[in-house]
Amino acid sequence: MPAKLIDGKALAATIKEDIKKEVEGLKSKHKMTPKLVSVQVGENPSSEVYLKSQRKNAEDLGIDYHIEKLAEEASQDDLVRAIDKLNKDKGVNGIIVQMPLPSHIDAKSVPRYILPAKDVEAVHPQNMGEIVFGNAKVLPCTAVACMEILDSIEGLKLYGKEAVVVGHSEIVGKPLALLLLNRFVTTTVCHIATGERGDLPEFVKKAEILIVAVGKAGLVKGEWIKQGAIVIDVGINRVEGKLVGDVEFEKAQERASYITPVPGGVGPLTVAMLMRNLVEAFKIQKSEDRRQKKSDL
Ligand code: NAP
Repeated sequence: MPAKLIDGKALAATIKEDIKKEVEGLKSKHKMTPKLVSVQVGENPSSEVYLKSQRKNAEDLGIDYHIEKLAEEASQDDLVRAIDKLNKDKGVNGIIVQMPLPSHIDAKSVPRYILPAKDVEAVHPQNMGEIVFGNAKVLPCTAVACMEILDSIEGLKLYGKEAVVVGHSEIVGKPLALLLLNRFVTTTVCHIATGERGDLPEFVKKAEILIVAVGKAGLVKGEWIKQGAIVIDVGINRVEGKLVGDVEFEKAQERASYITPVPGGVGPLTVAMLMRNLVEAFKIQKSEDRRQKKSDL
């Protein structure tokens, strides 16, 4: 029997219903609309889809959304100043710095300039660090989207399961491995060196849960998939004008029990998680304001 398709769009729609209600409640309680600002340096076609989706989701949920555009030639200092202005603006609750950045900017250093309480992508080292302790209030959007997908599978008990994560980027693979470990999933992380040694098939074959986040179409062959595995394909690749993931979909579907499609799998949930983080950030800031007012009395 072919694997069941995990419908990321439907799952995201259900989660967004809850977020929408929460946003309405927060608006009437605080007489303020949560606001998300995305900072974009120069134009990059690969960011456009994500920006469009951010705007659409924010609009659907009654969240204010603004894109702060800086010129392609903007320096690192210009970017840091723009972030700092947003950090200090009480009307802004969430800040995203849109990747990729032009090559003259040290992209790896940028997350640490975002105020942790407004870091809705959970890329600041402080928010990343909280994941290690299982205390994080905001979580990296794609990593937590994968967890949300796993939690949507009826009857699935994560405790003790064997997972393989392919890809160890700061935004997906590494935080996801920690989230899985926090749920007592036995987790193996594969990366470029695993691929170069030719060991990837051996690891993938053992995975009861396989999550692939690399960005190489067809990297994971269908015949490597363990019978009955759950396959989450994070990769997005354009092949002959079509979007595909990193896993050979049709062949993998014959062996897996559940599989996410590309598009329509992880993507819609990632944006939903971003909006959920914004609501969380808004609540954190409001409780911080209350604490501050009390200590001023
Ligand atoms: P990234 O920063 O480029 O990371 C890719 C990872 O894959 C790196 O850890 C890299 O290792 C590893 N890798 C490269 N070749 C490999 C191989 N042959 N075998 C095993 N590992 C290999 O990318 P990312 O930002 O994590 O994104 C990964 C993919 O997910 C992309 O296609 C991206 O578009 C997609 N994505 C989708 C969503 C969504 O919402 N659906 C969100 C984010 C990203 P090294 O660093 O050691 O080279």
